Amino acid sequence: MSNTTVVPCPRVGITLYAPWWCTILWAGKRRENRWESVARSLKRWRGPIALTASKTWNQLDVRSDLLEINLSIQPTWTKSLVWRDIHDRAGCIVGIADLVAVEPNGKAPPDPWAVPGQWSLMLNNVREVIPVPCTGGRGAFRFGSCSGCTKPTAFTGSTMVCRAKACKTTTPRAEVVQPMLTVVNASPSAPAHAAGSVNGPAGTA
Ligand SMILES: [Zn+2]
Repeated sequence: MSNTTVVPCPRVGITLYAPWWCTILWAGKRRENRWESVARSLKRWRGPIALTASKTWNQLDVRSDLLEINLSIQPTWTKSLVWRDIHDRAGCIVGIADLVAVEPNGKAPPDPWAVPGQWSLMLNNVREVIPVPCTGGRGAFRFGSCSGCTKPTAFTGSTMVCRAKACKTTTPRAEVVQPMLTVVNASPSAPAHAAGSVNGPAGTA
């Protein structure tokens, strides 16, 4: 049985494609690569950021990305990764991490996760959360609960406009409240499968 803690969603978030959010949650990846423009927008931000799983993903891309990571830890966690783990979390807030540094990869310490030519968002204290559906954004964005439908929504300007089709509520920035997230204390090397769930091995979906 896992212990849970409820915390406010960080005010800032980024969207990640599979399998990269998976590798942060379950494979010890602590460096998120971003182009300089996005990295610079977070250069002064230190503290918790929300990790959002992209709504779009496909098995071919995930497979080819995983083949590119030739790391010793890979076999351990890819065995425990199943397509359902990605499917069930796509389009959701899936984690929280502390952003501790933002630096170009050339200056950063050597790390197998570093992509040459990009910048690194250095993460620490990664926590998996019970997935919460949200509308993410491009680059780095602010996060809040829509005052109309309460759905977590990304925004970048001075007001938050809900992107849910049936809602479209505008929430002034001063009135934005943070959604609450439930942190799951799980094994850092494996997805927190629901107890009793039956999943096939990766690649059999
Ligand atoms: Zn709304």
